[in-house]
Amino acid sequence: MNLIFLGPPGSGKGTLAANLHKLTGLPHISTGEMLRGYIRAGAPLGLRAKAFIDKGELVPDELVIEMVRERLSADDCKNGYMLDGFPRTVPQAEILDGFQTIERAVLLNLDDETIIARLSGRRVCSACGNTYHTSMLGESTACGKCGGLLVQRPDDSEATIRNRLRVYHSQTAPLVEYYRGKGILSEMSVEGTVEDNTGRLLRLLGMEKS
Ligand code: AMP
Repeated sequence: MNLIFLGPPGSGKGTLAANLHKLTGLPHISTGEMLRGYIRAGAPLGLRAKAFIDKGELVPDELVIEMVRERLSADDCKNGYMLDGFPRTVPQAEILDGFQTIERAVLLNLDDETIIARLSGRRVCSACGNTYHTSMLGESTACGKCGGLLVQRPDDSEATIRNRLRVYHSQTAPLVEYYRGKGILSEMSVEGTVEDNTGRLLRLLGMEKS
């Protein structure tokens, strides 16, 4: 299945996609994660993208589209994939439709104030990428999985989160109607726990274990 996750930053697209990957093996393709990888590697694409990412703005369509086109041509995507963070604009969706068939789009619904609380307390392991929330960490600054240092993503400051939400509502939210119009949109609330939301997602997609 070729699947897209839609929803504001902080709605848990990455966490749910990672869980679904563990359960089904479908490749999880996160454009934000790919861009951060290019930044860490000091690659030209990363250097161009960083200024936009740090401000909470979208990276220009042409940079992201070519990166995704190349990734989706890889062998592991032949039997389906999950896109997390792409498309983020209507032009990206239209270009994607020109070379891929998207079968399902799942919109994760969460209100802005909950998102700000979640993202401003998010800490990420600088070694393995595992994420935590400060409310669960106490004084700890080490990853419970690998011992790596926990850091705050530069774009998780409150001012930048608010800008990312503004950008989401103006540039990405129109995709909800785009996919609804194609008859492939499903919606789910993500207010509950990650376990509950993963179960709900599996049922929504008809992928629960019998
Ligand atoms: P994410 O990890 O999905 O929250 O993405 C982090 C940042 O990467 C976003 O705020 C954008 O600056 C950039 N980004 C990720 N995906 C896209 C995309 N499809 N189009 C434009 N910018 C993107």
